[in-house]
Amino acid sequence: MNTESIAVLAAQWKSVCQDFLITDLNDTFQFIQAHSQTLVYEFYKNIMQEKEASYFLSDDIVQNRLKTTLNQWLIDCFQVPLQQNFTEIVEKQLMVGKVHARIGIPSWLIMRGIGEIEKKVFLLQTEQTQENRLTIAAYIVQILGFASEIMCRSYEVNLEKNNDTKHTYRLFSAMQDVSAQKDKQRSSLLDWENELMFKVFSDEPKFTHPLLSKSEFGLWFIHKAAYAFTGTEQVSTIIDRIHQIDLLSQQVLNAAKKDKAIQLIQEIRDKNREIQHLVDQLFQVADYIDSGSDSLTQLLNRRYLSTIVSREINFSRKNNAPLSLLALDADHFKRINDKFGHAAGDLALQFIGEVLLESIKGSDYAFRIGGEEFLLLLVDSDLIRAKEIAEQIRSRIQETTVGNRQGSSFNFTVSIGCALYDGHPDYQRFLDAADTALYAAKNSGRNRVYVAQTELQASTMTVQS
Ligand code: GH3
Ligand code: MG
Ligand code: MG
Repeated sequence: MNTESIAVLAAQWKSVCQDFLITDLNDTFQFIQAHSQTLVYEFYKNIMQEKEASYFLSDDIVQNRLKTTLNQWLIDCFQVPLQQNFTEIVEKQLMVGKVHARIGIPSWLIMRGIGEIEKKVFLLQTEQTQENRLTIAAYIVQILGFASEIMCRSYEVNLEKNNDTKHTYRLFSAMQDVSAQKDKQRSSLLDWENELMFKVFSDEPKFTHPLLSKSEFGLWFIHKAAYAFTGTEQVSTIIDRIHQIDLLSQQVLNAAKKDKAIQLIQEIRDKNREIQHLVDQLFQVADYIDSGSDSLTQLLNRRYLSTIVSREINFSRKNNAPLSLLALDADHFKRINDKFGHAAGDLALQFIGEVLLESIKGSDYAFRIGGEEFLLLLVDSDLIRAKEIAEQIRSRIQETTVGNRQGSSFNFTVSIGCALYDGHPDYQRFLDAADTALYAAKNSGRNRVYVAQTELQASTMTVQS
């Protein structure tokens, strides 16, 4: 959301406050401060009865942490007119919406919780004797409504963005297989057409020919390519043409006169050219999709990081399976470039890529997320496996001499931060945990593996090598 829209929302928030007397605003703030714990309790008590909520908030640690956050949120919302920080409070709502979208918490669940807070506010106000108790309740309801509206705006924008990336990721993963087959399928479409033509001209009285939808090309397109390109206009047009060609080819088989058959074949050829043209268009999109991987190392790049990590943390939560993350950064890499040249540096990066791929299973993910920064997402892996792999990578790199064609050779090292997924639904926290561990590995001397401790353990870090 741009600064202009934020300014508009901030002005609207301010105008809500201006409808009330300063004494009402002050009394409300005091009321919220006195009852925030009760209101937070109501919020959770009610939404936890929903199945969806128990999925996101089942963890005690998560719940306690979120309770503190919600408490602070309530206080902030009603302290605004006293501090006049309207822009800041709008930005805060936008951020909350973004986090909810990232986690995938449905917005109706939040609205339900807010509704429960409002109900409790009215109940508490009826017990009061102050004259302005209705005014206070009305103000609270307006502010909570407006804050949720801002959250929903940002929630929707961000959810749409996430879904777009998910969609292109699906394309990307299916394409890795599909693109290899493009040329093969192109010629199988031509073969199907040529064989039909050949049969018509061969003067055989009765012949058969498979439907295009049952041919090699048709089956490939319907089962694989159509999935990879779901949602594009070309897919529905191509499937439509395949079925039209099926009807036409049946008419060819039944045509009494050759002239008629030749005319039908011409129609089939035209439709086939159209299919080829549309398939080419789809594969141009695929070239773009390919940018999901990094050309130097062939590892995944940053593009699908959030989609993949959030999918894997969902899997981990649902199946109670451990999930680990390694963040790796080459040590003093600038010096390598300075001393041996950029090409030698590239060679070292390619070597890291190879070591990473050789150290993991096919179900794990290896990313190059920046210049000399890498991430490994290890599925179904506890800290024991994660540490083992990290240590193996660290020592292999330390022990190997990298050489270039110019004859210069050198050794280099890497630092690795290691984190176990702790059940929090926000994947950003998981990425941050590995990053913090990496930072600690650097700070304690480099060329080592550091493990981030979970909140259940001591909050300090331990040296592993
Ligand atoms: P540290 O141990 O603190 O990580 O030191 P560093 O020198 O590695 O730190 P920094 O992250 O500041 O520097 C990273 C360097 O990596 C900067 C840049 O010269 C180099 N680099 C980034 N991308 C590439 C690349 O694609 N190829 C090569 N050859 N070098 C790269
Ligand atoms: Mg770096
Ligand atoms: Mg570095």
